[in-house]
Amino acid sequence: MKITELLKDDKPCISCELFPPKAGSELQNALKIVDKIAEIKPHFMSVTYGAGGTSAGQTVAIAKAVEEHNIPALAHLTCIDATGDGIEGMLGKFRDNGIQNVLALRGDAVTDKPREFMHASDLMRKISASGDFCIGGACYPEGHPEAGSLDKDIENTKKKIDAGCEFLVAQMCFDNNIMYNYMYRLLRNGIDVPVVAGIMPVTNAKQINRICELSGTKLPPHYRAIVERFADDPQALMQAGIAYALGQIIDLIANGFKNIHVYTMNKPEVIGGIMKNLSEIIK
Ligand code: FAD
Repeated sequence: MKITELLKDDKPCISCELFPPKAGSELQNALKIVDKIAEIKPHFMSVTYGAGGTSAGQTVAIAKAVEEHNIPALAHLTCIDATGDGIEGMLGKFRDNGIQNVLALRGDAVTDKPREFMHASDLMRKISASGDFCIGGACYPEGHPEAGSLDKDIENTKKKIDAGCEFLVAQMCFDNNIMYNYMYRLLRNGIDVPVVAGIMPVTNAKQINRICELSGTKLPPHYRAIVERFADDPQALMQAGIAYALGQIIDLIANGFKNIHVYTMNKPEVIGGIMKNLSEIIK
């Protein structure tokens, strides 16, 4: 199923992200995680892709396993060191494994080296030319760290839509007011494709500091206080992280923002805790 069909439906769409194990390591565990999350029935699952194509085979194997559970898979694909032939090869693998949805990204670790695909929009044009995939892209409610300004980043996001991007998945954001303001700016710039809000329940205090630093996402002071209070008690932090995420999700849904992507860090209990507490809200 194409993800745009789910996103255009009137009902909330709650999806989650998985990441594959490192290249060469055991797939078995990751496939068990897919089975556990599939029981919780998110509306779709996205599977990340190592920048530079590392672990590409694992992304295909996990996305295929997701599709076998009759849950649409959104396979990520990055273009940083990719060639046109390499991308065609990957698209062929997606097609052969029943994967219809691709999240087209640039990837990180950028060097000055000239390359075939400079930006995600170049990759989107290539995928679009192949005709049969539903294409999504990333967007950044607080601006992408390299963009210079939020306005410039939104201008660049418009290039993704012009290149065939049909929906956007947002970088995690811990403050819904930022998200509402961003939506207004997107619309004002003529971007009206479905946007999926990104929610990350914080379950590891050290990790979140690093993630925020790299992505330019701000942790609001009241959330930072919660994370610091429970930093040394993983179970308590997990509960607090899920509770904070639920507060954000319910506020988003109440304000008409029905498409939500949960960054689960491969923890079934995270998406499980969220879906359980939304059962009456999303029915
Ligand atoms: P781009 O759209 O190319 O943007 C990169 C920068 O260039 C931005 O500052 C943008 O404003 C600017 N820009 C864009 N187009 C132009 C243009 N035409 N001219 C000038 N400037 C331009 N990384 C992975 O390696 N694997 C993953 O699976 C993965 N999944 C992700 C999923 C989501 C939802 C998100 C939000 C990010 C993900 N990332 C992943 C990280 C992502 O690759 C990085 O954020 C990367 O730095 C930018 O990717 P992009 O696709 O937005 O790139």
